[in-house]
Amino acid sequence: MDVVIIGAGPAGTMAARVVAEQGFTVTVYEKGPLKREKPCGGAVSGRVLREFDFKASNQFWDRPCTGIFLCSPRNKTATLPSDRTMAYFVMREKFDYYLAREAQSAGASLVENAPAEPLVKNGKVVGVRVNDEEIRAAIVIACDGTPSSCARALNLYRGNDSNQAATYQYQMSMDNTEIDEKIGNNLEIYFGSSWVPYGYSWIFPKDGIVTVGCGTWFRAFKHYTITMKQCLDRFIKDHPVAREKVKNAHVLYPQSAMIGFSGISSPIYRDGFMIAGDAAGFVSLPTGEGIYYSMVSGKIAGEVAVEALRKEDFSKGMLKKYKERTDQRIGADMKWGPWLRRLALDTERDQEHVVKISAKDRWFGTMVRDMIVGDIPYNMFLWNLVKRPHKIGKFWLGI
Ligand SMILES: Cc1cc2nc3c(=O)[nH]c(=O)nc-3n(C[C@H](O)[C@H](O)[C@H](O)COP(=O)(O)OP(=O)(O)OC[C@H]3O[C@@H](n4cnc5c(N)ncnc54)[C@H](O)[C@@H]3O)c2cc1C
Repeated sequence: MDVVIIGAGPAGTMAARVVAEQGFTVTVYEKGPLKREKPCGGAVSGRVLREFDFKASNQFWDRPCTGIFLCSPRNKTATLPSDRTMAYFVMREKFDYYLAREAQSAGASLVENAPAEPLVKNGKVVGVRVNDEEIRAAIVIACDGTPSSCARALNLYRGNDSNQAATYQYQMSMDNTEIDEKIGNNLEIYFGSSWVPYGYSWIFPKDGIVTVGCGTWFRAFKHYTITMKQCLDRFIKDHPVAREKVKNAHVLYPQSAMIGFSGISSPIYRDGFMIAGDAAGFVSLPTGEGIYYSMVSGKIAGEVAVEALRKEDFSKGMLKKYKERTDQRIGADMKWGPWLRRLALDTERDQEHVVKISAKDRWFGTMVRDMIVGDIPYNMFLWNLVKRPHKIGKFWLGI
């Protein structure tokens, strides 16, 4: 086997597709079924379609996203519409299966219900162990999401209570006419510690479904006795803005998962080994967006694997290209995301001001909207503000 990949999420199937397209053998081991609903808001930024050349006509999505709706801790609201489709709302079962089929069509082999772990001999990753079978491969790419068991086995895991978030959400059935009327095609974000301490809540519309959830840092719950489920139930029942929107929606099923904000693992490559997607920490701190970053890192890992196979060089000297290229493509967002969060979104005061100014100042609102959907890199967002001190003044004073 040339390449073995652990995990069939967006990172793993993207990497597999790239390797298979170049005629090398690649197998993806997925611990669950290929058709599975990963807990996720399911907002896929428009750049995913643009950069990976996916056709919107391939119906892997439920609803286009044409606006952002923000609600502040004190229930001020800002609606930031766009005249174009900025993102797509997907159900992950459909979206991930679509990506898996694309990888299969390219020639990758995908094995479901097959939990895998890295096979290490003399300190080197030389393949994977699946059940009791040892499978050797020139290159292993770990794409097993967060908290990655591969990262933990290889001592690359950096998660702790301060940099990992817990989430809880419901997929709720809701009549499409009512979704159109009350939510439309907006991605809705609700700030406010009184609903979920230090975190935020969301409503994402789909086709006959709304995804309603909340998330916060693990550490936040050290000082509270409330559970995430209680936070979400209270949000749905009592939030002055949200409760009206979802009052006729019915819970289909709950979902819970972690989001790892621990930053990028170090290293993300070793001899014969790379780690991509959530498993490597490629997630946006300000928004929690991870699908795009997973796909980018998975694709780059696949490309570097192909080059290594062509040169028959699987050393870390060769695979360091993976780190260089991910730094180049998505490193700035990973670096500046924490700054953006710290400078503009960390406190309720900041969140109140972001919503207030977004509603009043068109330029600011457009910037915030485009930053949320990934159309403006975080460093550009901050730079655009630095160039306009009066906007910073407005933001700072909340006027
Ligand atoms: C509640 C919530 C809401 C989110 N909302 C959004 C959003 O709206 N937009 C967005 O862009 N991102 C969102 N994210 C983040 C997004 O879900 C992730 O960034 C993305 O799924 C990461 O893709 P991945 O391929 O790295 O990992 P995953 O999608 O987690 O895939 C990893 C795969 O590996 C498999 N696996 C794990 N261990 C093993 C093993 N030992 N052997 C074999 N297989 C294994 C898993 O079963 C899984 O299928 C959200 C996350 C959460 C928790």
